[in-house]
Amino acid sequence: MTHAHDRALPRAVRQAMPMARDVLEEVAKLHGVCIRPIPLKRLDTVTGKSEIIDVPCGATLDSKCPPCARRNKQLRKAQCREGWHLDEEPAITPDEPNEEQRWLVEFRADYQAQREAAEKAGDDTTDLDAIITGLDEEINAAGMRGSVLGRATAKRSRSTRRRQDAPDLPKRKMTNTTLGRTFHGPDGKVYRPSLFVTLTLPSYGKVRDGVPIDPDTYDYRRAARDALHFSKLVDRFVQNLRRVAGYDVQYFASVEPQKRLAPHLHMAIRGTLPRAEIKQIAAATYHQVWWPQADEVVFDGDHLPIWQDGIGYLDPATGEVLPAWDEALDALDEDAEPLHVIRFGEQVDVQGVLAGTPDADQCIRYLSKYLTKSIGDALNGGQAQQQHAARMLDALRYEPCSPTCPNWLRYGIQPKDAKPGMLPGRCRGKAHKPDHLGYAGRRILVSRKWSNKTLTEHKQDRRTWVLEALGQADDRTDPHRYIWRPVPAGDANVPPLAVRLLRSVHERQRWRAHLRELEARAAGQDLSATEEMGRAA
Ligand SMILES: [Zn+2]
Ligand SMILES: [Zn+2]
Repeated sequence: MTHAHDRALPRAVRQAMPMARDVLEEVAKLHGVCIRPIPLKRLDTVTGKSEIIDVPCGATLDSKCPPCARRNKQLRKAQCREGWHLDEEPAITPDEPNEEQRWLVEFRADYQAQREAAEKAGDDTTDLDAIITGLDEEINAAGMRGSVLGRATAKRSRSTRRRQDAPDLPKRKMTNTTLGRTFHGPDGKVYRPSLFVTLTLPSYGKVRDGVPIDPDTYDYRRAARDALHFSKLVDRFVQNLRRVAGYDVQYFASVEPQKRLAPHLHMAIRGTLPRAEIKQIAAATYHQVWWPQADEVVFDGDHLPIWQDGIGYLDPATGEVLPAWDEALDALDEDAEPLHVIRFGEQVDVQGVLAGTPDADQCIRYLSKYLTKSIGDALNGGQAQQQHAARMLDALRYEPCSPTCPNWLRYGIQPKDAKPGMLPGRCRGKAHKPDHLGYAGRRILVSRKWSNKTLTEHKQDRRTWVLEALGQADDRTDPHRYIWRPVPAGDANVPPLAVRLLRSVHERQRWRAHLRELEARAAGQDLSATEEMGRAA
């Protein structure tokens, strides 16, 4: 950012200034310090003191904070390893909410209030909605189940349930276990086999090196819709898998980009099934999208629906009110076709893996390989692939990404929760962005009974380890001691980011030095113990 007054400075100075900032950021990264910390106000209810504390951004995939992304990757690997070959049922009891969960929910409450105020004032709530959606995801990621709003909004299921036909698959009697079978070797050794499965989407046209050979016949629309609804297909696969397996199958999966920019899935499955059955399940699994039609353009260019307060969107020519989302769904009758049907492609890879083998380690590395990259990062930078991505984005531009997508106006329907200012082709949903290319879902999918620990507990493990190494007890005596509050943007009490980064780097250095000292002391003790043993001998 160059401000007008900067131009008064000599060129060399001007050029040097952002450099220093870059260096600071690099140093912070080297020290594993979060480069996008979130300032939060922490009120200590015991001392009455309040302090501003930086918490790591935690790097959701949209954020570009390499240290947090790396940390997340390590945590995910630990989580994956923990559950894959579990030999005892995990004990799933809801934990006392911890500090992080508490402040997330409080945070969420504040934004809910802001959103309601904004809505009342007739302001645009798009940004607030995006924040709230992000927070809801964080709340789940922090190991809390469900939504803070509970199931207050009844799920519509009038016509959808009956229409999702059950695929033709064998069905075993359900047993109440999450563990797979074990096998005994001739030597009496117990083997605990599990599976590593890779599922891909179908072909949309021939590709070479990730680029369609004939872009004109490549089915971009289908590719776009498949990417948008991919997570639903994965859900169905898991449902079918459990029915066939006859036990409560647990999995740790990652959604990754292929070179052709389609999402695909790697899944570590606890327990084992015959390879042929996995292939049969993948082939039989499909998901139907029961949305109104989005193929015939009704409004376009200057001919767009008009908003009227208290009524909604009107046809610009006739003044007729457009069908609302629920009405449009109700209008789908018996003869209606689904907007889209998604299935997996023929390429299904199934690999058997034994607990504790190098194969297992290799798979775990594979599962977390792309975690620091977005779907769009699969681009190799070549011009042909850039053009391929651009065409994919074009196809996504007018594709409705969700019931609330403004693109519904293009097809003559009022989006769910319609509000003024909606424009088709201008949806701000993640799915339409170059980083996501249609897939806006979670990149890591972990079933609830995968391991005994949530990601937050894995974090807690690391924290406890460090505190023990530092000789400090982990102070978890009173979870109610602190109250966390978001700090409004531009709060004068928050020092500039550069200052905060410098402090964190300093803190980290001090901490490292201390750990090294402890290590050295421990090594010294070992040495004297050896000497003693030598003397005794
Ligand atoms: Zn961060
Ligand atoms: Zn959208």
